[in-house]
Amino acid sequence: MIKKQTIFSAIQPSGELHIGNYLGALKNFVELQDKYECFFFIADYHSITENYNLKEKPKQIFDLALDFLAAGLDPKKCVIAVQSQIPEHTELAWILNTVTPISELQRMTQFKDKSQDQEKNINMGLFDYPVLQAADILMYKAYGVPVGQDQLQHIELTRKIARFFNNKFGKIFPEPKDIVTETPKIMSLTDPTKKMSKSHGPKSYIGINNEPEVIEKKIRKAISTTEYNKDIYSFYITLLEKFGSERNKKYFDKKFRSKDIKFSELKDALAEDIGNYFAPFRKKRKELEKNPEEVKKILNEGAEKARIIARETMREVKEKVGLVL
Ligand code: AMP
Repeated sequence: MIKKQTIFSAIQPSGELHIGNYLGALKNFVELQDKYECFFFIADYHSITENYNLKEKPKQIFDLALDFLAAGLDPKKCVIAVQSQIPEHTELAWILNTVTPISELQRMTQFKDKSQDQEKNINMGLFDYPVLQAADILMYKAYGVPVGQDQLQHIELTRKIARFFNNKFGKIFPEPKDIVTETPKIMSLTDPTKKMSKSHGPKSYIGINNEPEVIEKKIRKAISTTEYNKDIYSFYITLLEKFGSERNKKYFDKKFRSKDIKFSELKDALAEDIGNYFAPFRKKRKELEKNPEEVKKILNEGAEKARIIARETMREVKEKVGLVL
């Protein structure tokens, strides 16, 4: 039997997931689990590089596990695990630090952006974030990494780090490719020049677990224009294409082509369609929430499976680096 190729990706537990995370990453995870050997992680170590309330962190980790499972990730098909439960990730990150030039990290746009957002907390972890990410991916010798556009620079760096390591110590790591969806960058509801992000406040995004009334309120207040503006139209049409009912898609597509769309009408239809699209997700999530022990069991089993591979990779790495007596 031919061994399936490996996919790795992770999401930080740092608050509710939004439709940008869903269309850029999570929806793709669910599709990929049927074709590949998949590892989907909750990147809790990455999330503590940002400002956070420590009382909320355990719930954020648990909530992200609920999101993964309710969206359709199936622990029988893929490994779902929490990053900090596999200590080999930080071990490998340390070794990869020794082959990563500081100048490469200084170029990272996410570091520059986040440094502006949290100027009183520009910590070493934030700077080293992409090296831990490279360790996550290379640990499982991943062939592909499903991510949104904002992560492409980090995946490019992961390829370089793999190359630096292989050239210096001998080839172990494949260079992973990024796997992006048709919608790798969903823009903010309130500012069409910025990507949708939790860090711009709850009005700027739609949470995938938001109740229909909340979705409706947020979309009503979202960007609008009285004149024909192609970018703003296509923002809504893209969302309609992904979440809309067939009937609404056809109706607004015709209106869009004849430049005859009324924003209020489009927004109301879209809000209803997004609410309906995520109704099964919300239902499943509520059921899972009642059974926290089952969710924790899935995470523990995921960590055990991941550690078998992680230990083996570290054994190989330590030998190559000259740390085995
Ligand atoms: P993060 O919250 O940074 O861990 O992001 C989780 C995943 O969602 C990553 O693969 C990101 O690239 C993706 N993502 C985040 N924001 C967006 C967005 N606005 N549009 C598309 N994908 C996104």
